[in-house]
Amino acid sequence: MTAPTPAETHSGDHGVDHATDEFAALIEGVIQFRRRVYPERQEQFRRLASGQRPHTLFITCADSRVVPEMITQTDPGQLFVCRNIGNIVPAYGEMMGGVSAIVEYACTALGVSHILVCGHSDCGAMKGLLNPDDPNLRRMPTVASWLRNAEAARGVVEVTRPDLEGAAKVQALVEQNVRLQMQHLRTHPAVAARLAEGSLSLHGWVYNIEDGTVSTLDEAGGEPVPLDKAVASKGRAR
Ligand SMILES: [Zn+2]
Repeated sequence: MTAPTPAETHSGDHGVDHATDEFAALIEGVIQFRRRVYPERQEQFRRLASGQRPHTLFITCADSRVVPEMITQTDPGQLFVCRNIGNIVPAYGEMMGGVSAIVEYACTALGVSHILVCGHSDCGAMKGLLNPDDPNLRRMPTVASWLRNAEAARGVVEVTRPDLEGAAKVQALVEQNVRLQMQHLRTHPAVAARLAEGSLSLHGWVYNIEDGTVSTLDEAGGEPVPLDKAVASKGRAR
């Protein structure tokens, strides 16, 4: 999440014209989808029309730069996606709402085999968590309240990595927040039940916007490992 200031989004008449052009481009995109993309994949969409059987619940930030289906090269019907500010999963009972319902539905009705929490570099939510007195955040009490679900991650980074500042600190918090939200997932009864029967796996990833790499994290706090290296070392272990 990055938060443009009001001045950036509405800069007088020129800004309004620009916004109109942008929305016209969205509509043009829909028309092009129907004309060019849909016909090529008509069979696939017809198969999907009567139901879904996604294998993975993909939980990530609402940030516009993170596109789960692009990063993973997946098709419609494969990912059940939950996006919110800071890829947060409140611990069970803390804030019963959309995220808890998605987790329960994915585990119980859809029977997903994997739940993935994916954080990302330069996350505005994590920057906000590190700067609670930021005037922008003070104008957003709902966001501030939501970010409290990641507060324990900030506490861990402050204690374990007091040497870090700036972008390195944000990155450490991005990683610790993924670990925290994986722990929160375990508090959800539907997740706990599926984990107990061995039919569900939890995964933590961090996506780097600049170089397109994805690293995998474990909950214990080890260093992130680039996914390609993690896959290669698994191959060697076989
Ligand atoms: Zn973010």
